[in-house]
Amino acid sequence: MTLTISSNFDAGNIEVVSIEKPNNIQLKIEKDTHSEFLQWFYFRMQGAKDLACKFNLINAGEAAYPEGWDSYHARASYDRVIWFQIPTSYKNGILSMEFTPKFDTVYIAYFAPFSYEQHLDLVNHAQLSSLCRLETIGETTQGRPIDFLRIGDDVSNKKKLWVIARQHPGETMAEWFMLGLIYRILDEEDASSVSLLEKANIYLVPNMNIDGSILGNLRVNAKGVNLNREWTTPDIENSPEVYYVKKKMKEIGMDFNLDVHGDEGLPYNFISGIEGIPSFNDKLSKLTDSFMRNWKINNPDMQDVHGYPKNEPGKANLNICSKNLGEEFKCFSQTLEMPFKQNDNIPDSVAGWSPERSIKLGESLVVALLSIMDDL
Ligand SMILES: [Zn+2]
Repeated sequence: MTLTISSNFDAGNIEVVSIEKPNNIQLKIEKDTHSEFLQWFYFRMQGAKDLACKFNLINAGEAAYPEGWDSYHARASYDRVIWFQIPTSYKNGILSMEFTPKFDTVYIAYFAPFSYEQHLDLVNHAQLSSLCRLETIGETTQGRPIDFLRIGDDVSNKKKLWVIARQHPGETMAEWFMLGLIYRILDEEDASSVSLLEKANIYLVPNMNIDGSILGNLRVNAKGVNLNREWTTPDIENSPEVYYVKKKMKEIGMDFNLDVHGDEGLPYNFISGIEGIPSFNDKLSKLTDSFMRNWKINNPDMQDVHGYPKNEPGKANLNICSKNLGEEFKCFSQTLEMPFKQNDNIPDSVAGWSPERSIKLGESLVVALLSIMDDL
């Protein structure tokens, strides 16, 4: 059977340079649409059963975060359900993966993908619950609906909690997290979820960057725009995803915001806060501490030893979502980062950080939120 590699499918990304020698397959990661960023890859190889293959991503050194390749392992799957790590090394700007497939067809990706069809399944399943409504609040630049879930009874004196994910489309763990959160919050047999919805309404955007997800981008939308730098002045032409979501936020109001991401470099889950926004105060500082204390207890995959350095007072970049919204709504607003590698505190040598762990972290947000409801 001839060896072939393709990426012409939802979220696919690879350029084949040379495939003549299975032990030296040369590939390039394609740049994001209208952008210099590159890091996300996802391709299908056929005809390599029992063949010792070595893939070399020869432009890995030009990636957005080359430090992301240190101690990193690519993911592979035969059925696109179970993803496992394969031996991967990074040297002299080349990311190499060595692997002998057990079946004719294998998929290899930067992280377990979350496809547009899976996204549609998720939001349409959610709307079956009497607690949830699915709305379209605008269109992406390529004309796809921006899906928005309203959960609860909309009674106005309740707290208004927002969770949005996947502004950076290659950070697929963010949508796995949303899947866990959505299934748990809609579970009417779950006392924590029921209690949370007695006190709050919940507003969710499970995928902020649908076009970028389908295009196989790491960081930008179809216009080449990094949505997480657009929150001060979102543009209806170039960043409609942020424009329409922020408009809806102003219409509804906000007492809490979590913006869900993945981090290429650090092998931990962590929160990036709003210490640097002008209106940061004692109340927000105490909320930050108690939110983290409770979340860590509920799910030890969360930690606060490792993370980004905190901004100095007044030094936050207000173009970034969580900081912009914290300032605009004078509310508790955070960014969550999950690893592409693994959680080094609780390592998993087979799967690394995985969809399953992301889902469980999403589920555990329900109790972390419940613990701070009376203090918001
Ligand atoms: Zn991100």
